[in-house]
Amino acid sequence: MTQDSAEYAIEDDDLCLDNEASEIQRLQLTAPVEPQAQEDLDERVATIEFHCSGCNMHEMVHYYGRTPPFALGIKFREDSYVLRDPFQAPPPRWQSKPEFYVALGVKCANCNKVVCKDTLCSFYYTKTFCLECGKVELKNWPVEAQSRFRKQLTAKTP
Ligand SMILES: [Zn+2]
Ligand SMILES: [Zn+2]
Repeated sequence: MTQDSAEYAIEDDDLCLDNEASEIQRLQLTAPVEPQAQEDLDERVATIEFHCSGCNMHEMVHYYGRTPPFALGIKFREDSYVLRDPFQAPPPRWQSKPEFYVALGVKCANCNKVVCKDTLCSFYYTKTFCLECGKVELKNWPVEAQSRFRKQLTAKTP
């Protein structure tokens, strides 16, 4: 509102201005503010709580699901807790490149406990399992998956 009155004041002072030039100036000054700007701001606030049941990692994330709107073309195989990369500046609106993101973790396919991707907290074989469920599920897996899981379990004790 105050900008408008300032704009008209300038025009009054510059009455000798060429008509066309002042018209262009007016068009530039009164270009509508993008209505989406406020929504974008809110969207960048992390509102979903991620809490790993294994290592206690605690983080606020931006998205839970399979297709984060800020990571174009990405489709996770499991519902994931996704954080926008905090070190990445927002891309210009007209740019359709996906943002960088970090998938922190998922829910265990068996018991639904939230686990991060750390090898101390979860194991992935067709789905993500917490280590406790992994130890139970293990016997249903092919030998190769079993030995990989056992290796991961032993690797955690130095
Ligand atoms: Zn963890
Ligand atoms: Zn589990």
